Amino acid sequence: MPMASVTLLWVGEVMSAVPLKNDKPVEAGVRTVTVLGATGSIGDSTMDLLRGAPGRYRVEALTANSNVEGLAKLAREFDARFVAVADTARFGELKDALAGSGIECGVGESAIIEAASRPTDWLMAAVSGAAGLKPALAAVDRGTTIALANKECLVCAGDFFMQRAAKAGACILPADSEHNALFQALSSGNRDELTRVIITASGGPFRTWAAADIENATLAQALKHPNWSMGRKITIDSASMMNKGLEVIEAACLFALEPEEIDVLVHPQSIIHGMVEFSDRSVVAQLGTPDMRTPIAHCLGWPERIAGPAVKLDLASIGQLTFEAPDFARFPALRLAYDALRTGNGATTVYNAANEIAVAAFIAEKIRFGAIARLVEATMNDWVRAGNLAPLSSADDAIAVDHNARNMAASLLPQIAAMAS
Ligand code: NDP
Repeated sequence: MPMASVTLLWVGEVMSAVPLKNDKPVEAGVRTVTVLGATGSIGDSTMDLLRGAPGRYRVEALTANSNVEGLAKLAREFDARFVAVADTARFGELKDALAGSGIECGVGESAIIEAASRPTDWLMAAVSGAAGLKPALAAVDRGTTIALANKECLVCAGDFFMQRAAKAGACILPADSEHNALFQALSSGNRDELTRVIITASGGPFRTWAAADIENATLAQALKHPNWSMGRKITIDSASMMNKGLEVIEAACLFALEPEEIDVLVHPQSIIHGMVEFSDRSVVAQLGTPDMRTPIAHCLGWPERIAGPAVKLDLASIGQLTFEAPDFARFPALRLAYDALRTGNGATTVYNAANEIAVAAFIAEKIRFGAIARLVEATMNDWVRAGNLAPLSSADDAIAVDHNARNMAASLLPQIAAMAS
């Protein structure tokens, strides 16, 4: 398909791979798509949009971790060419589930990477956690258009990911709702006219809770998000505001912003998703009902707009939009994200790795909710004290830091678990 020039976001010497203006010609005909993490919450929203536009898209590859049944069902429905699950023990089951369909399949990390490497016009990167990094990089290297939901892979690889994307000619479309809002608002001005971005946060289920109650919150309570329906890990991250911390880092990477240029604003209704302030003090915001199919539809249709299935925004019936400053004392995870961003040199990778260990431990009832942020902070401090900070210049660097930080967090886990709040 013919590709024309795309205006990219320039920041001094750094070129982000996020397109600034919609000057790409509309591609006619059927578009080929791949969905990494097809069985998850973002995957489900993406497949729903594809289902709503029959004949417009052809599915090349779909992937999952271990949900063979869900993946095989989607593969048959969309007549995918290739499917892969990360869990190598599921090969027999996957082959059986696809018997007679003619759909190729594979297992293990290499098969997920193969799915990402197959030529397509568009790819959704929606694996959860740092496991999404290598497959996302495989897609980056073939210079395709990537809707990026998997924030952890940016947080883990930092600037390196976006630099590699810019070099490969890949086009990164932010799928996370707040970053998609910034992406839409940014085209109202030039980079040197931008003074700050504001990402909103619902505040999660513990927004009004006292610190002592947050400390002892149960898994069921942490999984009750007031506005968004999402996967388990991100829902827990929303409750701790670790998710907002990851998003602050994600915004810095995507748009090449300094920490001081990124503000967080608690907005319980989740109607305004992000705002960009320009030098003349104009603030441009993107609004919509809280439904991930809206930002995903923006990425899927880009540079055009396609029909979205979300409920129409009715501000008169909502009545009021309210705002609060974030509370860094009750939600230390947010403060730690800014610390990690300022520290650089792999600190954001450590922040993410320690959080993945902490969330898994919380789900397994090994630590209290309040200990999630304590484990992340202890790991970051020990990492710095051990003299481990160093610039990341390759995927292997990022993966090594991720691996070592996980081990450090796991070794700190018993003492954090035993610690009184
Ligand atoms: P889910 O947990 O719902 O889904 C994750 C998907 O990734 C599933 O398909 C899962 O497969 C697959 N997966 C998990 N681990 C691996 C692995 N090791 N290797 C290969 N595939 C794997 O997550 P979400 O959809 O909620 O989130 C996906 C990403 O998008 C995350 O990075 C999240 O932060 C981000 N995001 C999510 C939003 C949301 O509303 N949900 C909003 C904005 C960003 P299986 O089903 O087999 O487990």
